Amino acid sequence: MHAIQILPEAVASQIAAGEVIERPASVVKELLENALDAGARQVTVRVEDAGRRLMEIADDGAGIAAAELPLAVTRHATSKLRSAEDLFHIQTLGFRGEALASIGSVSRLTLTSRPAQHAVGARLVVEGGTLRANEPLGTPEGTVVRVENLFFNVPARLKFLKRDITERQQIDALVTRYALAYPQVRFSLFQDGRAVLQTSGNGDRREILASLLGVDTARQMIEVALEDQDVRVQGYISPVALTRSNRREITFFVNGRWVQDSALSTALLQAYRTLLMVGRFPLAVLFVELDPEAVDVNVHPAKAEVRFRSPDAVFSGVQRAVRRALLTSSPVPQVSSGWQPPQPTALGQGAFDLHSASRPAIDPAWDMAADLARAEKSEGAAVNAASAQNPAALPPSGMLPLLRLVGQVGGTYLVAEGPDGLYLIDQHAAHERVLFERMMGGLTAPLAGQALLEAAVVQLPAAQAALLNEQIPLLSRLGFDIEPFGPNTFRVRAIPALITGSDPAAAVRVLVEDFEEDETPLQAEREARLVARICKRAAVKGGQSLSPEEQRALLRDLEACFSPRTCPHGRPTMIHLTVDVLERQFGRRGSR
Ligand code: ADP
Ligand code: MG
Repeated sequence: MHAIQILPEAVASQIAAGEVIERPASVVKELLENALDAGARQVTVRVEDAGRRLMEIADDGAGIAAAELPLAVTRHATSKLRSAEDLFHIQTLGFRGEALASIGSVSRLTLTSRPAQHAVGARLVVEGGTLRANEPLGTPEGTVVRVENLFFNVPARLKFLKRDITERQQIDALVTRYALAYPQVRFSLFQDGRAVLQTSGNGDRREILASLLGVDTARQMIEVALEDQDVRVQGYISPVALTRSNRREITFFVNGRWVQDSALSTALLQAYRTLLMVGRFPLAVLFVELDPEAVDVNVHPAKAEVRFRSPDAVFSGVQRAVRRALLTSSPVPQVSSGWQPPQPTALGQGAFDLHSASRPAIDPAWDMAADLARAEKSEGAAVNAASAQNPAALPPSGMLPLLRLVGQVGGTYLVAEGPDGLYLIDQHAAHERVLFERMMGGLTAPLAGQALLEAAVVQLPAAQAALLNEQIPLLSRLGFDIEPFGPNTFRVRAIPALITGSDPAAAVRVLVEDFEEDETPLQAEREARLVARICKRAAVKGGQSLSPEEQRALLRDLEACFSPRTCPHGRPTMIHLTVDVLERQFGRRGSR
């Protein structure tokens, strides 16, 4: 063991730099933010060797007075904050006074600047935290920051950098997103002399969106605009037919700051709930603005996270904005319009490929628009008691036409005929949907529970027990009667009538596991997930043969659903083969 010592300044700042400067893109982010804070109208970024050799950011902003240059690269020196009080109404992107000092401690940093009102500017060089030069210099108005040889003195960091292509992409993605957030600023980005991005600064975001997503994708994006008294949400989201397999294309800016906030993404995803297949994610670039005093930005050294004073208001703002945008900008296309039969070559031996044929038939956009229309109407109906009494104001029953049952296939699918073709229905998914809507519909009043003849006792690990304890009120509204029964132990005296067949202790355990995974901040959403989970248990299984009466009853129930075409988890309940599709497949039409 060694004696305790205060670390030399150079070591301390390298440690601090580790928090802020992780990779080349983090340097670019800090320097861009400085340029924007300085009121730049034009920002030029030059990168060489994926940022290992050089990152240079030039702006035409306010500049730094020669006398203040050394301060700019000093830790905890900032022009943006005076007192701790200021932290709670920050209008600038920076405020920690850390970035330039951090960058200077792990690279060779050259700062050249001149404020408009000064005749001459100055240049200052810092290398590995040591001041190398500081001299007056004639230079254009504004600031140029050059960062060379990043991490030259922290080889361990260098090893953590990803392949050049990855680091370059990170920079491209970052600059493009900032360009989108600040469309009135002209951005240029060059990688190894090649122009990657050039924006006009004319305030038009669509144009920049095309750089981010490509022209075709950008064209499909739906505009979001919601102005509330506390929150403003603007930007672009993808229609339901356009998805990705991960969340990487989901971007949020809060008050002009790019943040990674899983709760905001969750709010976005909830707005798409049951409209996307499981494991698919929308694309989105959303700009949330609210009173600076309602956001705490001082949560994370890289300022990538924020805390909201009233998170629920913000999340529900995002949700409403997205839902409304989805609703108003989704035309209701004809179910099979524009669909071309697959080419025989794509069908192997020319057999009918159900899978590819099913895609256009369950056009998600169609389903979604109708879904949302209903949802909005039913919300309206629920709010307005008078109109709820009036049958005409209720959502039209059955976005499905009336179906005639043909039979069951493989004990798993129902086959039905409608006026517009053939429907293959997954009985498990369909039953899940039916139960889900029934339970959600009844949630204004507690659901019926079924008392158990013999109470079941469940013992849980402490952390799970705490979670369960918290959710007892919600569970009791869903028909569970659960009470604490000794340390980390509960007695289950009733379970929802819907799942009486199942093992009560097992059911409770499954639900608690759900609480653990649950990241949604909204109680209503948590409730919906729980209900979906219960319905999954309660629904008839695939492979379970149903009597003709049961099959017919399931069809009737499904017809009455608001969103009959997807199960509560977003999987399709049915495949619809339109008459048109059938005729084309049999060569009766379309081939002439
Ligand atoms: P912060 O941005 O948190 O204040 P930085 O270390 O990033 O801390 O910058 C320190 C100070 O240097 C800023 O407060 C600002 O006064 C000045 N500065 C940095 N970059 C620029 C720039 N591009 N134009 C004008 N001033 C700048
Ligand atoms: Mg800064």
